[in-house]
Amino acid sequence: MKKSGKKLMSVVLAGAMALSLAACGGQSADATTAAETATTAETTTAAETTTAADTTEAETEAVEEEAAGENQQADIVVIGAGGAGMTAAIQAVQDGATDVVILEKMPITGGNTTRSTGGLNAAETPYQEADNIEDSIELFIEDTMKGGKELNDKDLVTVMAENSAAAVDWVNDIGGDLSVVGMFGGASVKRIHRPSDTSAVGPMLVKALNDKVAELKIPVLLETKAEKILVDDSGKVSGVTATDKDGREFTIDCTAVVLATGGFGANSEMVVEYKPDLAGFCTTNHGGATGDGIVMAKELGADFVDMEQIQTHPTVNPDTQTMYTEGVRGNGAILVNKEGKRFVDELETRDVVSAAILEQTDKVCYLVFDQAVRDSLAAIESYIKAGIVTEADTPEELGEAIGVDGTALAETLTAYAGYQAAGKDEEFDRESMELPLDQPKYYAALCAPAIHHTMGGVKIDTQTQVLKEDGSAIPGLFAAGEVTGGVHGGNRLGGNAVTDIVVFGRIAGSMAEDYVADNGGHTEAEITAEEDTAGAVPAVQGDYKDGVYEGTGKGNNGDITVEVTVEGGSIVSITLKEHGETAGIYEAAEKGVVEEIIKNQTAEVDAVSGATNTSKGIMEAVSAALEEAK
Ligand SMILES: Cc1cc2nc3c(=O)[nH]c(=O)nc-3n(C[C@H](O)[C@H](O)[C@H](O)COP(=O)(O)OP(=O)(O)OC[C@H]3O[C@@H](n4cnc5c(N)ncnc54)[C@H](O)[C@@H]3O)c2cc1C
Repeated sequence: MKKSGKKLMSVVLAGAMALSLAACGGQSADATTAAETATTAETTTAAETTTAADTTEAETEAVEEEAAGENQQADIVVIGAGGAGMTAAIQAVQDGATDVVILEKMPITGGNTTRSTGGLNAAETPYQEADNIEDSIELFIEDTMKGGKELNDKDLVTVMAENSAAAVDWVNDIGGDLSVVGMFGGASVKRIHRPSDTSAVGPMLVKALNDKVAELKIPVLLETKAEKILVDDSGKVSGVTATDKDGREFTIDCTAVVLATGGFGANSEMVVEYKPDLAGFCTTNHGGATGDGIVMAKELGADFVDMEQIQTHPTVNPDTQTMYTEGVRGNGAILVNKEGKRFVDELETRDVVSAAILEQTDKVCYLVFDQAVRDSLAAIESYIKAGIVTEADTPEELGEAIGVDGTALAETLTAYAGYQAAGKDEEFDRESMELPLDQPKYYAALCAPAIHHTMGGVKIDTQTQVLKEDGSAIPGLFAAGEVTGGVHGGNRLGGNAVTDIVVFGRIAGSMAEDYVADNGGHTEAEITAEEDTAGAVPAVQGDYKDGVYEGTGKGNNGDITVEVTVEGGSIVSITLKEHGETAGIYEAAEKGVVEEIIKNQTAEVDAVSGATNTSKGIMEAVSAALEEAK
């Protein structure tokens, strides 16, 4: 079955990023996505090898026919380099797989995983024990089922909960950092595990995954979109067809496929098909979350569950589409309406809070917190840097600044401080009230609900095998992450998706490795990852004055300052002096934009998809620097 194929070379770099933005109408969000691991795939297709000036027409046809049949080969193809996909690939190799390839349609890895901010839910961990938090697998299952309105597949939930503590260990073992435990909506106890500096979980996780993928030399073919999963006459998976960045289609023959394409929150058509009342909603998702895996699995006769279960996130800035992590509320913030009053238990599940916001004036509200909350959560700094938080010295002044009755807002905060001191929320029964919200300064951020998570998807069993409607498994096809349905039921609890991708990503990797071992065995990799040794080199002669110049541009989170060095008339290097961009975004943009600027000797190059604002900020900074060099 194995055919020999051309060697595909992919270059794995490193990096990571984050900041949760969103977009309306399914457009891709700007400066959000990404992964620090910008991986470029140099796919040498068969077609490229067929050119010969003096080849006759007949000979050309023969060569082309042969070339078209010359498929690539791998034991396991993982579709999607987000959290679930990279976890599966790493686990497969850790278990003994020797020939794993990851396909990623975007120019950068990470998908929605890079955007995840809150953390990873896990029960019975040493970190909870150290904080004297009494939790149990059973309570985790109970909370998840309750949060999911009992629609969840309890077997999947049980596997997730039972393996959650091991997921924390695994992430930490591969170089991640999950050591601080916090409170999140729908959880009975503190269960969400975060990085020790309380920064967003996604960039940390994606960086750890990228680094491990690079260390294990697992090739990631970027800008390579899987189009179709192939099966043989007996229905077993036999390959994947894909399109590379130049639009060339090629096939990778393989024994097993792990489908890890994420959700469809950025595909407004698909969203509306399953839930018409979400027409026109913004999304917090990255541009690649278009449900490709749903389409590919459907063609194979896969079964689906809960497709209409689409979650909105209650606190998204309606102008910039920045998502304020639930951790802000978990750490103490309240929600007030335009009348300056609270209207819901802020830690209710996302569907409840979203619905409550939609009942308020203009269908928006304000996330209100004080200095103590700001100091408790690093993620807040990115919102402040982005200029989407209003601050004031007193509640009255804050109210005036946001156009809300200041006296009403002050009364609301005084009443809340009283509830907090008494340990009883007289109005909405909020159970966890971390702080009294009485420490100046005071902050307010406008928010409204946006499409956030698609809870339905491909039906899998507890071994991540993709099931058909008759309950039989599609041999060789495994799936994990947001492309699957069943884990979250009617409402996902914050922190459970990251647990889902690590737990089921690991199981999918192990299962795929087992399946390969039982179906022909492991083979030597033909598609390999290689270190990127080439730096940026001018392809044309520049026309600038030699020297070192500094310039500043506007990024996502404030100014980006670069230093541009011109030697022999050409730009030879561009280095970062200062920026407020989220870790990884800058690296992704830098990789794509800086090399192009140096290559073409102009600051006007294409922005990196998924890191558009940062790319533009770099270009603006370089342009400003080059003004002096003319
Ligand atoms: C703003 C935001 C914040 C969040 N915060 C949290 C949180 O705090 N805690 C939590 O538990 N969950 C959170 N989530 C949800 C969670 O991040 C996602 O559900 C999860 O990361 C999905 O992981 P995944 O690997 O399944 O998909 P992704 O990470 O989206 O990866 C899928 C990858 O597949 C690629 N792909 C798609 N189609 C193809 C194709 N045809 N060929 C090749 N590649 C393809 C995509 O480009 C993408 O890179 C958040 C989500 C968002 C959007």
